[in-house]
Amino acid sequence: MGSITLNSVSKVFGAHTVIPSIDLKIDEGEFVVFVGPSGCGKSTLLRLIAGLEDVSGGKIVIDGKDATELPPAKRRLSMVFQSYALYPHMSVRSNIAFPLKMAGEDTSVIDKKVADAARVLNLTDYLDRKPRQLSGGQRQRVAIGRAIVRQPVAFLFDEPLSNLDAALRVNMRLEISQLHQQLKTTMVYVTHDQVEAMTMADKIVVLNRGNVEQVGSPLDLYHRPDNLFVAGFIGSPK
Ligand code: ADP
Ligand code: MG
Repeated sequence: MGSITLNSVSKVFGAHTVIPSIDLKIDEGEFVVFVGPSGCGKSTLLRLIAGLEDVSGGKIVIDGKDATELPPAKRRLSMVFQSYALYPHMSVRSNIAFPLKMAGEDTSVIDKKVADAARVLNLTDYLDRKPRQLSGGQRQRVAIGRAIVRQPVAFLFDEPLSNLDAALRVNMRLEISQLHQQLKTTMVYVTHDQVEAMTMADKIVVLNRGNVEQVGSPLDLYHRPDNLFVAGFIGSPK
């Protein structure tokens, strides 16, 4: 579960070609990081996979099925954004439960799934709090909890840590990596931060102006960059 294949996927906004054509294979259970400078098309690519944008051309295959025309809700993917987008008036429990309530799940099922997600994310003691009573890291975990309860075939993260301070970012980086080891679900993670890419990824996809410059493991890219762009980007951590 959770393989994602892009065949000649392109995206044009008006006269602006953001993604000329991308071919990419993400294997089941892989932690794949899209990395590249601001404006290179990382979010657009993730949104195409999520179905939040329509492709201009090409095909997206999820779990062996053509998903190109499927609406977001039918793709069984969960997206976590950099802004937490939590409901301020609702408790942590209600925030995490929200997608399940919308899906009309039974209360008993909801309670169990929320309890499971809270355990995985160390939020058990915070379920009755409101978002404003939480730290930035805890809020981000609530957002991840809301993604987890839907039991997606893959998680899509768009710069989830960029609103956090440096120390918290390091913590959350480890937590998301541990979550991946625990759940073994495919994760596609967008960042402009080379360190995040190098420390978290099984496979890094280096993007530049909507093109894939190189795909490889962190060590591959570090030791055998295909070109100067990759060498410059990967080789010069901030
Ligand atoms: P990144 O996430 O790598 O910073 P984005 O995918 O957000 O880059 O943006 C890539 C390019 O596409 C940018 O030039 C941006 O201005 C453009 N773009 C993104 N979304 C839209 C849109 N809805 N309409 C027009 N242009 C867009
Ligand atoms: Mg972006």
